Amino acid sequence: MACAYISLGSNLVDDAGTEPATQLDHAIDSLSLHPDITVVATSHRYKTRAIGPGLQPDYINAAVKLDTLLNPLSLLDCLQGIERAQGRVRTIRWGARTLDLDILLYDLQVIDTERLTVPHPRMCERAFVLAPLVDLGANISLPSGENLLSLLANCSDQGIVKL
Ligand code: ATP
Ligand code: MG
Ligand code: MG
Repeated sequence: MACAYISLGSNLVDDAGTEPATQLDHAIDSLSLHPDITVVATSHRYKTRAIGPGLQPDYINAAVKLDTLLNPLSLLDCLQGIERAQGRVRTIRWGARTLDLDILLYDLQVIDTERLTVPHPRMCERAFVLAPLVDLGANISLPSGENLLSLLANCSDQGIVKL
């Protein structure tokens, strides 16, 4: 059994009118229903400014801790299936989206393949990723040995709001 941390984000209402916060609820429900995944803990929700191109709505972000029997690529397949099921369309990079599910950490593994990089390559510079992760455990270990609270302190100017 592996322990994985996933970040969740949404800043777009879907075609059925589902709001971002509800998109996150649905994603967590889907993860919980998977036979090889147990959702162990869920962070607070945060309202955060979009980092992508152009004017975009604010995001709702969160993170979850999973126990899983899936290997990292199977976990990515599962996350992308949930994104697709919830109307994720990839057009421009970092464009607005109904749902983004990223693997932040998978045990202490370091993975660098075409499809998957773990730890997530941009997590250490994003308050909207680090703050929810700290909710799940300030002492969570990174393969680099870096400390989550110090990394978050370096992102203190990013203006995120705990909901
Ligand atoms: P960012 O990676 O900066 O958060 P994004 O989440 O918007 O951007 P996506 O469009 O969701 O990027 O994903 C682009 C590709 O990133 C995916 O097709 C996937 O193969 C790859 N990828 C690499 N590492 C990861 C990871 N740790 N978690 C999720 N996707 C990853
Ligand atoms: Mg992302
Ligand atoms: Mg993504």
